[in-house]
Amino acid sequence: MKELTLQIKPVGNHCNLRCSYCYAMPFKSQKFEILDLKFLEKLIKEAFEITNNVIVSWHGGEPTMAGLDYFEKYISIVKKYKKDNQHIVNMIQTNATLITDEIAKIINY
Ligand code: SF4
Repeated sequence: MKELTLQIKPVGNHCNLRCSYCYAMPFKSQKFEILDLKFLEKLIKEAFEITNNVIVSWHGGEPTMAGLDYFEKYISIVKKYKKDNQHIVNMIQTNATLITDEIAKIINY
């Protein structure tokens, strides 16, 4: 069965670093917002309705700025909708400065 890849930017282009060469241009003036969990739940639910193989690519900016609590809620959502015969792979593009063991475990789920 075909896989579905979702690229999720939970904090948009925000980043705790502001590299001068960054194509995402994480300017300070942008309002900091985190992707709504209800919208995230809708994405995950619908993804598992159409395929058994979901890939989630966490992207930014710096996606770990969403925080551990956000990723824990994400895993709860995955567990709610993923059936035993379904699979999910998480990938992340990160500068690694905010990675904790807990976040690493969730990304490795
Ligand atoms: S760490 Fe990455 S996302 Fe953040 S400012 Fe630098 S290049 Fe951009």
